[in-house]
Amino acid sequence: MWKCEVCNLILDVEEAPEKCPRCGAPKEKFMELTGESQEKVEKSRETNALLMELCELMEQAENISEEGIEINLDPGCLALFKQAKEQANVLKQSSKAEIEVHVGKGKWG
Ligand SMILES: [Zn+2]
Repeated sequence: MWKCEVCNLILDVEEAPEKCPRCGAPKEKFMELTGESQEKVEKSRETNALLMELCELMEQAENISEEGIEINLDPGCLALFKQAKEQANVLKQSSKAEIEVHVGKGKWG
């Protein structure tokens, strides 16, 4: 695993590329990631994938809640669906923000 020190791009390759495919930096700007730092990158990728999955689920929860709100069976159900929609939205936004933090720090290849 190699990391471009100019743009933080991470590549899963055996050898550093001649040129960074993202920013065009030369081979010398690549640093090999091993052991702990490689593990960190892998963990961060896994976490981001989970966060994206969570985002999708929360979007589904929002859609389900909207349907429930539309049917509007009784005040109890309406309140529950409204609450579910709100909380799903909060979780979705927080997950997105967290992914952006990881990407911003260059933890994400
Ligand atoms: Zn680069």
